[in-house]
Amino acid sequence: MFLMVTEFINYSEQIIRAARYIGQGLMITLSHANRLPVTIQYPYEKIISSERFRGRIHFEFDKCIACEVCVRVCPIDLPIVDWKLETDIQKKRLLNYNIDFGICIFCGNCIEYCPTNFLSMTEEYELSTYDHHELNYNLIALGRLPVSVIDDYTIRTIQIK
Ligand code: SF4
Ligand code: SF4
Repeated sequence: MFLMVTEFINYSEQIIRAARYIGQGLMITLSHANRLPVTIQYPYEKIISSERFRGRIHFEFDKCIACEVCVRVCPIDLPIVDWKLETDIQKKRLLNYNIDFGICIFCGNCIEYCPTNFLSMTEEYELSTYDHHELNYNLIALGRLPVSVIDDYTIRTIQIK
């Protein structure tokens, strides 16, 4: 008789514990029920990047002094600065400037240290391509103004807070 009572108590305790665990699980599920989804339906929906987003680099080639500071501070020596010394005026003339976004780690060092502040990071993040070589931007491509997702009326933009 005593053994039966003990077993019954043990059994009841297990049922209460199981019910408590189920209740805790349900509470977590319910606490997420009011949240907005984290994922978005790209490309029909796009995130508006924050102001400090490190996207594709923009470069104002007409103002670059070809000092190569950006190359020296880059952890992978990535920017290619091609210049020619104009002996008559004793000044460097920029011929080409390349950054390969297939290799760039978007650390922002080149932007931070450029003495003329003519490098900047844009909000552009759509850099996918079928050909890796297309990510090697020359000074014309780098000088292109960023495409803003806000201006695209065909998609829904989402602001992440
Ligand atoms: S650091 Fe700035 S000014 Fe100097 S080469 Fe690079 S982009 Fe041009
Ligand atoms: S963002 Fe960083 S890795 Fe990319 S070019 Fe500038 S310094 Fe180099």
